[in-house]
Amino acid sequence: MEILWPFILASIAGFSTMLGCLGIFIPVKKKDEFLSFALSLSLSVMLMVSIFDLIPSSLPYIGDGIAKSLALFVLFFGLGATSVGFLNKLIEKEKGSSNLYKLGILSFIALVLHNLPEGILTFMSTYQDFNLGVSLCIAITLHNIPEGISIAVPIYYSTGSVGEAIKCTFFSALAEPIGALLAFLIFKNFITNQMISMFLILVAGIMITLSINKMLPEALSYNKKKSLYIGFILGAFIVTLSLLI
Ligand SMILES: [Zn+2]
Repeated sequence: MEILWPFILASIAGFSTMLGCLGIFIPVKKKDEFLSFALSLSLSVMLMVSIFDLIPSSLPYIGDGIAKSLALFVLFFGLGATSVGFLNKLIEKEKGSSNLYKLGILSFIALVLHNLPEGILTFMSTYQDFNLGVSLCIAITLHNIPEGISIAVPIYYSTGSVGEAIKCTFFSALAEPIGALLAFLIFKNFITNQMISMFLILVAGIMITLSINKMLPEALSYNKKKSLYIGFILGAFIVTLSLLI
C-alpha cells in the first residue's frame, strides 16, 4: 500500500508532539527556573524553525520574480503576525486567564496551524520518496517534542490540570495526520508548492511574533537568566540537529 507509509510517518511525526507532555511530569523544585527554561526552549525552537526552515524552504516557491515574491511574503507574513494580536484579544475575553495560560492556548493554535501543512508535506514527500519521508519524519519528531512542551507546560502550570494540558497537546498532534489525510483525500491533485509556501509563511509570521512578543516577555518575567540561556541554546541545538538530518 503506497499510502500506508506516508500516513504512518506523518502520524509518528505528529504524535511525537505528545512527548512534550512528559515536561509536566518532571518533578520541579524550582518552578520559576523551570518555566523560564521551558518557555525559552519553546521560543527558541519556534524562532529557529521559522527562520531557518519554514521561510527559506517556502520563499523560492511563493511567487515568480523577486518583486512579486517579496510582496506575497510581506502579505502572508504580516497576516500571520497580526493574527497573534487578534487571537490574544479573543482569548483575553476568558475571565481570569493568566498570561501563562494565554501563552499555552496561543501556542496550541499556532501549532495546530503549523502541524497541518507539516502533515501534508510529510505525506507528499513520503509518497514521492520513502527515504526522504523517513528523514523528514525524524527531523520533525525532534522539533515537535519541544513544540509539545510549549503547549503542555504553560497550560499545566497555569491551570494545574494534567488532563487539559494533555488534551490540548493531543489535538495539536492530531492536526498532523489530519493534514496527511487531507493531502491524500483532497489536495493531492491540485495543491501546489505555492499554496503550501504561502501558508507556511503565514505560520512563520505567527510563530515568530508569538515567540518574540508573547513568550520572551513571559520567560524574562521570571528573572532567571541562566535557565533562560540554557533553554534557548538547547532549542537552537535541537533545531540545528533536525536541519542537519
Ligand atoms: Zn513541527
